Amino acid sequence: MNNFAFLRAENADDAVRAVNANTHAAFIAGGTNLIDIWKYNLRHPELLVDINHLPDCSAITETVDGGLRLGALVTNADTAYHPLIESRYPLLSKAILAGASAQIRNMATDGGNLLQRTRCYYFYDANAPCNKRVPGSGCAAINGYNRIHAILGASEHCIAVFPSDMCVGLAALAAVVNVTGPNGERRIPFADFHRLPGDQPDLDNNLQHGELITSIDLPPKGFEQNYSYLKLRDRQSYAFALVSVATGLELDGDVIKDARIALGGVAHKPWRVAEAEESLKGKAATPENFAEAAAVILRGAKGYEHNSFKIELAKRAIIRNGMMATEPESQRPGAKPSL
Ligand code: SF4
Repeated sequence: MNNFAFLRAENADDAVRAVNANTHAAFIAGGTNLIDIWKYNLRHPELLVDINHLPDCSAITETVDGGLRLGALVTNADTAYHPLIESRYPLLSKAILAGASAQIRNMATDGGNLLQRTRCYYFYDANAPCNKRVPGSGCAAINGYNRIHAILGASEHCIAVFPSDMCVGLAALAAVVNVTGPNGERRIPFADFHRLPGDQPDLDNNLQHGELITSIDLPPKGFEQNYSYLKLRDRQSYAFALVSVATGLELDGDVIKDARIALGGVAHKPWRVAEAEESLKGKAATPENFAEAAAVILRGAKGYEHNSFKIELAKRAIIRNGMMATEPESQRPGAKPSL
């Protein structure tokens, strides 16, 4: 029996104060990952602070700079199907709809999506050593079955990957995460939100205990003309990515003026390499040029016994998705890319 207290917070300050006062307290919104983790005995909150009724966190609004603000409590489904997201940020809509199931997307919130834990099987197995679950206990995946694990940015302490699709889209769009906490409000560029495992793989992101995500800002540029999200996985639905790619292009004819490429399923955080994106500027959108960018993105990639195939898979996915982004028609459901 896990006894816990439950508090319905009416505003963000009360929520932050309650969680900050108890190191074993947790915020709960959709609960789609927290309840899983609880059932696996990985976490036992003494206090759940319900944030579902906080004001100003449940809407998608336009910002003064021409972008959009996603309230942290907007569900993934409402975000993906919002007319302004579909028309101005279709890359994000596609990324969200590639993830989870319709039922989960109806419950899961945008803030919670950023905070989901890894799906490394050993993380959920209390009998396996896992530095993320029990710091210092070891990593069962490094010499175990590591088909779904990282090829970039891993450490000798953890080779887990971050499982979100939505966050790969947010990384490509250079979103900003707004948080409030015991020390006030701050804005975190998306690239700085999640962490690489290093020697502290128990930390997935740079939030402090008691800090609460209130919203996510999308910059004005949405790459709505040329974009593509490609998710490669073991089955076509309700599976996590082996490799995913979010690509946004700004084209002048077939010449690339601006490019964004973010990878999922390959690292402890969505993976972007600015050098590769810069290298595409002024070049034609061709498989050869995307292949050169892929080589830069995958520089230093390292496979383990069961996942080395991901390096070639990621390279091909970057090339294919780059070309798909040049063909908006290829984004229609069921449409086949020309490659
Ligand atoms: Fe744990 Fe990370 Fe190793 Fe998986 S890869 S067993 S999450 S330490």
